[in-house]
Amino acid sequence: MKKILHADCDCFYAAVEMRDRPELRDIPIAVGGRPEGRGVIATCNYPARTFGIHSAMSSAQALRLCPQLTLIKPDFDRYREVSAQIMAIFKELTEQVEPLSLDEAYLDISDVERFKGSGTWMAQWLKKEVLRRTGITVSTGVAPNKFLAKIASDWRKPDGLFVITPEQVDDFVAELGVDKLPGVGPATAQRLKQLDITTCTELSRCALPMLLDRFGKFGQRLYELSRGIDHREIKVHRERKSISAENTFDRDLTPAQVIEQELSTMVDKLTARIDRHGNPASSKIFVKLRFNDFTTTTLESSAMLPSIANFAELFERAWQRGQRPVRLVGVGIRLRDAEDSRQLGLFSTAPDEASSVPEDQ
Ligand SMILES: [Mg+2]
Repeated sequence: MKKILHADCDCFYAAVEMRDRPELRDIPIAVGGRPEGRGVIATCNYPARTFGIHSAMSSAQALRLCPQLTLIKPDFDRYREVSAQIMAIFKELTEQVEPLSLDEAYLDISDVERFKGSGTWMAQWLKKEVLRRTGITVSTGVAPNKFLAKIASDWRKPDGLFVITPEQVDDFVAELGVDKLPGVGPATAQRLKQLDITTCTELSRCALPMLLDRFGKFGQRLYELSRGIDHREIKVHRERKSISAENTFDRDLTPAQVIEQELSTMVDKLTARIDRHGNPASSKIFVKLRFNDFTTTTLESSAMLPSIANFAELFERAWQRGQRPVRLVGVGIRLRDAEDSRQLGLFSTAPDEASSVPEDQ
């Protein structure tokens, strides 16, 4: 039986700012882009969250919700430096570390012998050491697999520690909402709801052929997740090659509808993800498009900034290839190759920056 620990810093960029400027601690602050430049919120502290502010929201909207909000320009060099310190502490526990972003990682602690092998004690030690050495609080989850460990770290946030033992998995998963499952975004959650499925118990009653029929390959994954099963291994050596955001629409859209109604939200989401990865250099932007006959096409372009105008232009060119209604669109950036990233000092102590769990369909 595997034992996975997921560690996730609480509002990381904001936490670094509050650590260095204690006067910010009790007032609503957010780290993000300028509102006039279509900036988005990367992270905000808990006082700001009480106003309804969250990451990926436009900075303009955040300031409307909370006019006294202190908006801070991100300082990625400083965040990367703190991140490297934190990842180094993780590696004192085990070399089996898979970073997901600057402030988040999976650790495979199955073979760790320290702390008598107790995941709870390891999580306590890790939280204590990160706080003592960097001033940052971390929430941790321990579980028999990645997907449950990630949910567990979120369960008692902030400053949380939550353990799901192998014996507790069935009861824990039974109560879990399907919207908590990795890969289930709003569109998939809505489709499940139309089938009267909102919990994993309900999902686990669905036959596999039915799920495959309705959700394609993802049906297999839904079948397993609803039973608390997740076979993904910790990936220590995989390089992240791209960052993207995609959206499956509730109904098929015309190209004009995509550009007018969907594109800006998707680009905002992408921008927030790029920020979360410490703003790495990109070599290309790309658009992925799935037509209503399920044919998929991807088009990329060199040396373009990930702006709405550029994605709109690329999308229109990609659409010409099929000229049918559209059911899914993705926007993303390809990262410069790993050698370049290293020269830039991007992943100086964590050279094996790995892929993140898909957060949305
Ligand atoms: Mg975090």
